[in-house]
Amino acid sequence: MQSQRIVVVGAGFAGLETVKRLEKVLRAEMGRGEVEVVLVAPNDYMLYLPLLPQVASGVITAQAVTVPLPRAVKRAHRLPGTVVGVDLASKSCVVRKISGEVVDLPYDRLVLAPGSVTRQFDIPGLEENALGMKNLAQAAYLRDHVLSQLELANASTDDEERAARCRFVVVGGGYAGTETAAQLQLLTEAALKRFPRLDPGMVRWTLVDIAPRLMPELGKKLGEQALDLLRRRGVEIKLETGVEEVTPDRVTLSDGTVIPCRTLVWTAGVTSSPLVKNLDVDLNRGRVQVGADLELPGYPGVFALGDCAAVPDLTQDDKEAICPPTAQHASRMARTAADNVVASLQGRALTQYSHHDLGLVVDLGGSQAVAHPLNLKLKGMPAQAVTRGYHLFALPLMRTRARVVANWILHLFGGDDFIRIGFLSDRKATVDEFEGTQSYLSAEEIRARAS
Ligand SMILES: Cc1cc2nc3c(=O)[nH]c(=O)nc-3n(C[C@H](O)[C@H](O)[C@H](O)COP(=O)(O)OP(=O)(O)OC[C@H]3O[C@@H](n4cnc5c(N)ncnc54)[C@H](O)[C@@H]3O)c2cc1C
Repeated sequence: MQSQRIVVVGAGFAGLETVKRLEKVLRAEMGRGEVEVVLVAPNDYMLYLPLLPQVASGVITAQAVTVPLPRAVKRAHRLPGTVVGVDLASKSCVVRKISGEVVDLPYDRLVLAPGSVTRQFDIPGLEENALGMKNLAQAAYLRDHVLSQLELANASTDDEERAARCRFVVVGGGYAGTETAAQLQLLTEAALKRFPRLDPGMVRWTLVDIAPRLMPELGKKLGEQALDLLRRRGVEIKLETGVEEVTPDRVTLSDGTVIPCRTLVWTAGVTSSPLVKNLDVDLNRGRVQVGADLELPGYPGVFALGDCAAVPDLTQDDKEAICPPTAQHASRMARTAADNVVASLQGRALTQYSHHDLGLVVDLGGSQAVAHPLNLKLKGMPAQAVTRGYHLFALPLMRTRARVVANWILHLFGGDDFIRIGFLSDRKATVDEFEGTQSYLSAEEIRARAS
């Protein structure tokens, strides 16, 4: 029998868990060479994104939040590169290897898990001036950028420049934006002791969101508690407010406020990877529409899951509801995806994905957190204990857990040295550049390549 090739695109929460499950279930078949699993991903690690704000604030080092693929993946073949296009008709992926070489990779079964990219809106100056917070490079860059603003402000004698460099704006009041603002505000507060010419009152953080509440997924009470807590720490929160324009030295908000500043962090939502947007298939809210069995309608053997996919949420009464883009859903969908790949190879019926959300945990830095696990509403130290325990439980490898704990302890007792590593400091760090959104082939280019 000819070997069947399963290609998995992306090694995030969804992709890595799918590969691990396939390795477990198909162990014998892979050993006999009847099935080959190929994992295509640009990096040699899976990134534990929920701890990214702690990387930006220096609580954890960048390496500590990675799960090394050579350790996590045992039998699958790893191809270091980016899938820049998929020809669904001829069942082949176009892969740009990290060397730049472009190769075709035919598949028998395909699992699409390339995640999401930062959602940008048509706001003047946003594309050129906003910083994103979706990957390790962006977190490292953001930390350097924030520290460099304090350093430059400290060195300047121009009052206007000093004030502008000490103003920081984060847009997006979901958990990513709220945690980023909260963690970085603690970083700048602590770093001030290194900058004697800066007055503590000069450093100001503003969190902006178009919605009337912070983190609506936490419920009204906890969202309000997070808001009160941040306001007490001096973070200005502007709700029901949008961004009208961004320039290199100011942000204009929809309520008319003009904030002179050199830092705008944009976390106002995510949208599916350009890979699936170029597939020429049905999209739902920017994500590829799949059935509850995660299969792409009309393309048997092609599955999509995680942030890139619009998966019906069978736990809701609302028939239109889709699962929110969270790590929790992505890693749980992986089990269904892997089992359905195997079922489709064996000619069995596919199963449907259904999962009740276990709640959300939000680390606001130090001993402060809010958490909503299993419908309990927690704040303060109990919430922080649950939050950290949840992350340790969810991290896929023992050694990654150990590194994270070691980093927490080191930071608690040793603090931060506020060192800039000089990462890409000479380049303009746009979201598109960092997230590689322009590197994909359009549907026409894919068709032209096939013919
Ligand atoms: C700052 C931040 C904080 C968050 N906090 C939480 C939280 O507390 N709780 C929670 O549940 N969720 C949280 N999330 C959301 C959560 O991280 C995502 O929902 C989750 O990562 C989605 O998993 P995924 O596998 O679909 O995508 P990802 O984890 O993003 O993985 C995608 C993978 O695909 C790779 N890839 C991308 N394009 C290609 C391509 N074309 N070819 C090959 N490989 C590709 C990427 O390199 C990556 O390895 C947070 C997100 C952010 C940004």
